[in-house]
Parts: sequence; structure tokens; C-alpha cells
Amino acid sequence: MKIHEYQAREILQNFEVPIPAGEVAENALEAREIAQKLGGAVWAVKAQVHAGGRGKGGGVKLAKSLEEVEKIASEMIGMRLVTKQTGAAGAPVSKVLIQQGVSIASEYYVGFLIDRAAQSAVLLASSEGGMEIEKVAAENPEKIVKVYIDNDEGLTEKEAMSVTTQLGMSGDIQQKAVKVLQRLWNVFKTQDCSLLEINPLIVTVGGEVYPLDAKMNFDDNALYRHPESEALIDPTQEDPTELEAHEAGLQYIQLDGNIACLVNGAGLAMATMDTIKLFGGEPANFLDIGGGATPEKVTAAFKIMLSKPEVKVILVNIFGGIMKCDTIAEGIVEACKAVKLTVPLVVRMNGTHEELGKEILRESKLPIVSANTLGEAAEKAVNLAKGN
Ligand code: GDP
Ligand code: MN
Repeated sequence: MKIHEYQAREILQNFEVPIPAGEVAENALEAREIAQKLGGAVWAVKAQVHAGGRGKGGGVKLAKSLEEVEKIASEMIGMRLVTKQTGAAGAPVSKVLIQQGVSIASEYYVGFLIDRAAQSAVLLASSEGGMEIEKVAAENPEKIVKVYIDNDEGLTEKEAMSVTTQLGMSGDIQQKAVKVLQRLWNVFKTQDCSLLEINPLIVTVGGEVYPLDAKMNFDDNALYRHPESEALIDPTQEDPTELEAHEAGLQYIQLDGNIACLVNGAGLAMATMDTIKLFGGEPANFLDIGGGATPEKVTAAFKIMLSKPEVKVILVNIFGGIMKCDTIAEGIVEACKAVKLTVPLVVRMNGTHEELGKEILRESKLPIVSANTLGEAAEKAVNLAKGN
């Protein structure tokens, strides 16, 4: 689960991480009032979207007067911001963060994340702050410092000293940075983050150490431990189709291809997507209908799959176990009546009550292309998607 920068800032504050003063605004007038209250001569106006790369996409601008704050805010609020991470459609901006301008002496990259292969949390840090860390990793990997963190020990002072020394810090600034790093680790662990990325962490001309940006993601599987985090969800930043699918109780992930898949079981759904790719096709989604699928759920799944104009064919792949083939077949027939089927439908069905399921589909007289194996089903779907 992702949250906005302004929400992450509040959490950082609760953990006594120092941040530059700022507040979030929902309209241009409010933005101006906040800037006035903050005082100073420069303000950063920052679009609040669940994506990075805002600076380059025009989502972070500096204003030098209250009029300018108001003007920039009025332009940003209501726009769809396109960045490298949003895709072409962009993300809607409904709030802007007004932050007191700071004079940057140097910028660093700091990121806490989970290294699954190492089964450990890891701190990545670099003196190349403000840049895309992916670029640094590709071009100057030696400029990234990496520390695996013992979950019980936490980030020790010794480790934090070593990291900040490698970043080139010393003296009072280093002491401040060490505290910031240890507190950031505290946030990461306590909040069950999957990512806490500060890019840039800055040292100001006045010698303060501040996170100037904060990207905080939570581990969805740990959300039950943080009921307060659920209140931070912003549905406007989520893919509307995925939201609808989750509300219907489907495990659904939107993809870029044109072959929609409806499968029972996550493993089988992955195998189905692999097999489609093996035959040269591209899946339009991952969809696990789960063990307890009802005809209503199948209908919801069909509606969601057909709502994407890119979809050229639907591939249903069912292995009947606890979920019986006849139940799914009834669901398919009902769904096809409820949602006008506009694309070819390929069905592969094996397992419990297989014959019964196939009979229901035959008797429905629906134009279904049937297949006996996953390979055959995928090949037929790929050919149909290509218009053959
Ligand atoms: P991102 O592009 O989505 O990662 O957004 P950031 O919050 O990192 O902002 C992009 C860049 O804007 C930062 O790397 C900074 O260089 C710059 N920036 C943001 N706030 C300020 C500020 O108050 N003063 C100055 N001088 N630069 C800022
Ligand atoms: Mn950033």
C-alpha cells in the first residue's frame, strides 16, 4: 500500500525525524494562506500523487511570492500529472504540499527496503542524491553503500556512522544524520514498511539534515497490525479496475496485453500467463477467481475483463478441485447472458465434474472455443487475439 508524501511526513514527525515545515492544501487560496503562515521568501509547491519523478514531470515547483504559490497551486490541483512512474494517463492531483523553501548544500539518497533474496531489511545510501537511484545503480554501482540490518539489533550507531562516513559526512552534520537514519529505521520497522525512500536527504546551508522527500509503502500483509494505516488509502490514486475487482473479491492485476484470463488459483493463473507468453501472446490481466467462486463472481470478472477495450479474447482456465467445473460452467453461461460477449471465449476445463461442466457449455450454444490442454487453450487464444 502506498501513501502520499504529506502523510509520510506526519509519520516521520511522530518519530521525531526533523522535516522542513509544510502543510497540505486542497485549493489555491488555501495554498497561499499556508505559504503566508509558513513565512519566508521561497516555497516548494509539490503535487501529491502516488508516484516519483514528480520534479521532472512538473509536479515540484519553487515559488518566490505568495501570488506565485497561488498560481502554481491552481495549475497543479485538478491536473493529471504524468511522470516516468505513472504511465501515459498520469495520476490525478487533488492536493499540493506547500513546503518552506530550503537552501540545499548537498543531497543524498537513502532507502530502506526488503531484500527478499537475503531475507533481510537493507539500507541503501548514496552521495548521488536527487538523482534516479536506478541510474546510479547502473552507471556507478560503487557509489551505493549497502548495509543489511539485523531485525532485532536495528540499525546500530556504528553502522550508521560507517554509512555516513562513506557518504563523506563528518562532525556535527554526521551526528545529526546518524540520528535521522536510526529514526528512519525505527519508522520502517514499526510501521511494517516495504519501502521507505528519502530522495533527497539534504544538508541545508545552515547545517540541518532533513528528508526533503518521502516515499513510504506499507507491507499489505501486515496491514492488520496497523488499522490506522488503512485510513490513509487514497482510492483516486489506484487503478479503478483493480479497485472494482478487489471489491468483488477477486485477486486482479491489470496488465498491458490483449488476452484476458480467468483462472482459479494463483499458481495456475501464473502458469496460464506464462503459457500465453510462450505462444507469443500477452496477458491483459492476472485474475484468480479463488476457491469459492459464485456465478455472481464470474459475472463480475467478465464485466471487469470486458471493460478494457484492448481485450481481444478471453481465456478461461479452470482446474476443478474444490471448485467444481459445473459451477464455473454455470457461472460462465450466466455471465455471458448478463454481459454481451463481444470477443471470442476459449475455455479449458479439467477436473471435478468436468463432463458435466462441458455439457452445460455445449448446451448453452454459446460460441465457445474449447480446448483440452493448457497449451492448446493458450495457442488458440493467441491465434484468436491475432485475428486468425
Ligand atoms: P520527486 O521528483 O517526485 O522525487 O520529488 P522531490 O520531492 O524529490 O522533488 C524533486 C526535487 O525538487 C528535489 O530533488 C529537490 O532538488 C527539489 N526541491 C524540492 N523542494 C525544494 C526546496 O525547498 N528547495 C530547493 N532548492 N529545491 C527543492
Ligand atoms: Mn524525490
